Amino acid sequence: MGSRRLGQVELSWGKVTVSGKVHGCLLKRFDHSVTKETLDGIPPIEFDTVAAWCRFTVPSGLGGSLGGGLHAAEHALIAVTPLLAMCDRWDIGGSFTPDGPGGKPAIFIYDGFPGGTGIAERLYQYYGKLASRALELVLGCNCWDGCPRCIMSPKCGNNNEPPDKKACLHVVDILSREMAGERGAG
Ligand SMILES: [Zn+2]
Ligand SMILES: [Zn+2]
Repeated sequence: MGSRRLGQVELSWGKVTVSGKVHGCLLKRFDHSVTKETLDGIPPIEFDTVAAWCRFTVPSGLGGSLGGGLHAAEHALIAVTPLLAMCDRWDIGGSFTPDGPGGKPAIFIYDGFPGGTGIAERLYQYYGKLASRALELVLGCNCWDGCPRCIMSPKCGNNNEPPDKKACLHVVDILSREMAGERGAG
């Protein structure tokens, strides 16, 4: 459990409770519901696990939907997680909120196994690298609006905030830039 600051990004990892239903899940931390979002393949049960999350400020004039950008960034971060942690993208879930702890946008990635298997700690350690890989993924994809290779998740249960590729590029660019010092790690 811990947190640290890289540029203007606040990174944390710690215990969360995920409660899933068929079409959405609620991520709770310290007894407060912080987000209500994707199911992302997690069985319909409630379990305690470990998550890594980042909070940051997004400038206005994003050129798209903030929720859609955060949602797409969550998917992109999950898509590149297997490059940094020994896991499959199906082993992890994600969530986001434009109005997270402290009123800042936040993106959560949680371990899909009760109790956690160490994935979140590793992401917390190498988040700068994770963000730059996500930026490469989205920048390098030739699609126009997002596709399953970059920001579309085959297991996403949240249709409320459709992933927005343009806004996503801004979000992952901010994360990648603010944490640039860590890019070489790992
Ligand atoms: Zn694409
Ligand atoms: Zn999703």
